[in-house]
Amino acid sequence: MIVKDIGFIIRRYNFRNTSLIASIYTLNFGKIVGIFKGFYTKKREFTSHLGFCSLNEFLFYPKKREIWLISQTDLICDFSFLWKDLKKNEIATICSLLVDRMMPLWEVNKDVFFLFKQTLEYLDKKDIDIVFFTFLLKFLTFSGFKPQLNRCINCEATLIGDVFFSVGKGGLLCQKCYKKVDDWQKVSSQVGRSLLYLQDSHFPLVFNLQLAESCKKEINFILKQFLSYHLDFNFLKF
Ligand SMILES: [Zn+2]
Repeated sequence: MIVKDIGFIIRRYNFRNTSLIASIYTLNFGKIVGIFKGFYTKKREFTSHLGFCSLNEFLFYPKKREIWLISQTDLICDFSFLWKDLKKNEIATICSLLVDRMMPLWEVNKDVFFLFKQTLEYLDKKDIDIVFFTFLLKFLTFSGFKPQLNRCINCEATLIGDVFFSVGKGGLLCQKCYKKVDDWQKVSSQVGRSLLYLQDSHFPLVFNLQLAESCKKEINFILKQFLSYHLDFNFLKF
C-alpha cells in the first residue's frame, strides 16, 4: 500500500551511481530509511534536491524490510540559511545525528518531529545557543535520558544556592550530597536555574532567558559531557 507523509532528511548517501539512500524522520512513521531509485538521472517524480535537513513530502511503500522504496517527493522547506552559516549548520548537523542515532526505526514520536522542526525554524531567527540547549534538553527527555534538575538527585531536597552536577548520577546534587559522588562539578545557581527553565519551557518562551557567555560555556560543557557519558555521543567541533 502506498502512503504519503512528511519528513526531514537526517542522513543521506549515494547508492551506486544513480540512486540515493536517506534516513528520514517522518511525522507518522518515525525514522525510516528510503531509497530514491534513479535520483541522479533526474526523474520527474523527484522535484526536491533532498538536501540535508530539508523537509519534504514523500510517497512510499512501507515494508517489513529495512529500506523502503520512495516513489515521489516534493520539497516543502530546505532551510537554505543553513548553508550560509557554519555554526547554524553545525548545530543542525549535531541535532540530525542525534535523531538518527537514538531513534529506532519505525517508532513514531511526534514530540521529536516537532522539536526538530521548531529547532530548525528558530535557528534562523533567535539566539542559536538557546535553541541548541533547548533541543538537547528536550531530546534527552523524549529519549528517556532526562537529567534531574529540579531536586537533588540523591535526597530529593530543594536546591538552594550553589549546586553540583554529577554526570554519572545524571543530575544536580545539593550541598550535603555532592561529596558522596566522585564526579561532581560545582555549578552556579544561575546555571542550575537556567538548565531547569530550558528543560521545562517550550519554544518560544525559552527565549525569555538571557544567558551571559560564561553561563553558555558552562551549560555547553555540562551537556556535552552528559551526552558523551549517557549516549556515547561526542561532538568535539562545537
Ligand atoms: Zn541531597
